[in-house]
Amino acid sequence: MKAQADIPFPTGLQSGRLTIDLDALAANWRYLQGQLCKGAECAAAVKADAYGTGQEKACKALADAGCRTFFVAVASEGITLRQSLPDAVIYVLDGLFPGTAPHFVEHGLRPVLGSIEELREWAAFCAAEGRSFPAAVHLDTGIHRLGLSAEEFTAALGDAELRASFEPSLNMSHLACGSDPDHPMNLRQLEKFRSVTAPFASIPRSLANSAGVLMGADYHFDMARPGIALYGGKAIDTRPNPMSPVAKVEARIMIVRDVPAGDTIGYGAAQTAQRPLRNAVVAAGYADGMLRRASSSNLRPGGYAMIGDYKAPILGRISMDMITLDVTDIPAELVQRGAFVEMLGPRVEAADLAAYAETIDYEYLTSLGRRFERVYGPLT
Ligand SMILES: *Cc1c(COP(=O)(O)O)cnc(C)c1O
Repeated sequence: MKAQADIPFPTGLQSGRLTIDLDALAANWRYLQGQLCKGAECAAAVKADAYGTGQEKACKALADAGCRTFFVAVASEGITLRQSLPDAVIYVLDGLFPGTAPHFVEHGLRPVLGSIEELREWAAFCAAEGRSFPAAVHLDTGIHRLGLSAEEFTAALGDAELRASFEPSLNMSHLACGSDPDHPMNLRQLEKFRSVTAPFASIPRSLANSAGVLMGADYHFDMARPGIALYGGKAIDTRPNPMSPVAKVEARIMIVRDVPAGDTIGYGAAQTAQRPLRNAVVAAGYADGMLRRASSSNLRPGGYAMIGDYKAPILGRISMDMITLDVTDIPAELVQRGAFVEMLGPRVEAADLAAYAETIDYEYLTSLGRRFERVYGPLT
């Protein structure tokens, strides 16, 4: 499906703008590889359209910076990525659906084998082809989503015939609680990963997502797989975010109007003006990725946007196509019809907005801007 934003339309008509800074993305990768995981290979998680930043352009920028290994979620993402990066190593995190092994081989994709059934199917396929194709083996160290149990893992990799039929190119696992470095689960998973994979240490190992990279060298092993940190997101809740922002969303003011004290704003009449207010109605809503849960009401505050250096709190419910902002205390010359307002970006950190919406910045990034104009350039 072609995103609406890809269809050219006259400038001036756009309701909003999504700007992606590929230089910042590349700089974030270089920082993680060059400063934080010097001893390991820094790969990139690029699933879900590279966290909403545009798979093709984002992956090209990462590859130009030196990234060689990419993790997508589903095979179709891998097939698309293969067109633009003929030489990259591409892992498919969701692994194999029954009967799909030939497609992986055709496109040079490596499945992350998430169950003993998948592993047996891949091994049998390789044996039938008479060729040993690479795949990652996922060990479940406690998240209980994908991955072989420790017993299955040890038995499978210790089985000479199985082991000889395919090429286990990576042993990996995934952290459940990385966003909270003090959570005891992290050490438990680390210990389990280390001990269960130790007998097979000739196969490269990978445990760390972004949070794992930030938690330190113990978690790095041979390869790290950061996602959110590359895109400027906040991988660890309790620490300052060292990454540069990569995405900015701006939406345009449609009208500016007065609301008398005591009147209500928006659907459900959920918010009452406590004093005479001046509102700006902007052309962005939950259909543009501005999650509805960041709405404001008389009971709880919602998110905010930035107009110049001023914070403009959301008033009332976020609707499909528009958001009402409180601009009462913002100089009128900044609040002009047609002006662009920062809804998310360097001054409205996605993680901050996400806290109002009771979610995480990942959800904001992967929901962004389907009908905005998309621009690649600096965020300033
Ligand atoms: C998404 C994903 C990553 C990247 O996670 P971030 O938290 O975005 O760094 C790494 N590994 C696996 C298995 C994933 O699903």
